[in-house]
Amino acid sequence: MRELSVYYCDKCGYYAYYQLPKNAVCHKCKQSMILLSISHQEFTNLDYEARDRFIVTKMIAASPTLANRITAPEKLYHQRKLVGTLTQQIKEQEKEIKSLNETIEWMHAMIWDELRKKQALKEEVRRLKELAAPAQQD
Ligand SMILES: [Zn+2]
Repeated sequence: MRELSVYYCDKCGYYAYYQLPKNAVCHKCKQSMILLSISHQEFTNLDYEARDRFIVTKMIAASPTLANRITAPEKLYHQRKLVGTLTQQIKEQEKEIKSLNETIEWMHAMIWDELRKKQALKEEVRRLKELAAPAQQD
């Protein structure tokens, strides 16, 4: 018989044991779960608190932005679900920021283009005025 491995969901923090990776799908989030680098035996030897601690540490480590923001990770060790939500929110925000930055870049390019056109028109008007000026003095 194949040995059981420990898997966790990085979205909600749910963990479970499976023999085959293809079965490691979170029933709630419907997403593939991540294999933990601990044997099933070692993991089940841990008490529930230590298991939470282990998984939360993994979840935080997998989200560098979150890791940087958390000054007291031990406060989150009992909050597997919360950590999952936070890492997901950060992922979403990063995506949003990226698309906002792209929009801003695009707007800058457009504005500069418009400004250049306006500047060229101003130059044109100035030159035309200069050409017309001597004639008016007559
Ligand atoms: Zn899940």
